Amino acid sequence: MPELPEVEVVRRGLERWVAGRTVATVEVHHPRAVRRHLEGAEHFVQALTGRTLTAAHRRGKYLWLPLTEPDGAPSGRAMVAHLGMSGQLLVEKPAQPDGTHLRARFTFTDGGRELRFVDQRTFGGLAVEDADGERIPSRLAHIAIDPLDPSFDEDAFSAALRRRRTEVKRALLDQTLVGGVGNIYADESLWRARLHGTRPTDRLTRAQVADLLDGVRSVLGEALAQGGTSFDSLYVDVNGQSGYFSRFLAVYGQVDRPCPRCGTPIVRESFMNRSSYSCPQCQPRPRARRS
Ligand SMILES: [Zn+2]
Repeated sequence: MPELPEVEVVRRGLERWVAGRTVATVEVHHPRAVRRHLEGAEHFVQALTGRTLTAAHRRGKYLWLPLTEPDGAPSGRAMVAHLGMSGQLLVEKPAQPDGTHLRARFTFTDGGRELRFVDQRTFGGLAVEDADGERIPSRLAHIAIDPLDPSFDEDAFSAALRRRRTEVKRALLDQTLVGGVGNIYADESLWRARLHGTRPTDRLTRAQVADLLDGVRSVLGEALAQGGTSFDSLYVDVNGQSGYFSRFLAVYGQVDRPCPRCGTPIVRESFMNRSSYSCPQCQPRPRARRS
């Protein structure tokens, strides 16, 4: 499933290739692709035809593209996209053959590259929703701002983390505290900060919280620079290219391989019905809390 850096890679592609262009035609090839557009596929098509997609924004794993009317006035709506498990937003030349799992196609009045929504497992989706100008659609407003967002508040995050009585990995995965960090980037961030995932957050020092936030930021930033992590062949950017970050993973999926810092074999432990990977030397388990 694409995590935050992968969705940000797609956002940048949309910003570069789609923003500022006016939709000529929309085809919906599968009803599930627009199931979140409650008025139905025909209404979805009408809501986009002739409108200009002005920009590409992201909150967590959602993307939204504000729309303007044919006369240039803000339409008060935006196209919202979620990639789900396997969704791809591809910018392709009209002559490029359609993929097997093409769910929707957008052509533009400039006659250039098309935008194609391809989704093998159909968990992703597109909808047109109310949005005030460039502001976030209300349905997405509750999603926490993530560390790649310019308006992320570092001090508020640190304070909120230390106030919680929970385990640090659980806190990182809590989307109301920090958006967009999934299992892979949580493990990589904890390794960078030399913290075991079961450390209690209320006993972290200010310096440890700062190290953790540095870890989250650096791992997300580097993953983004590598074009994201390719978990399988389904994750690609708008030009169909896979990311390279999987080559740089220090602990995630690296069981029995040497820790890049100290050489100790990486271990896998079960956590929240998933696997956690860590270095037993660099990230010792916390001592049991005395009550
Ligand atoms: Zn180590």
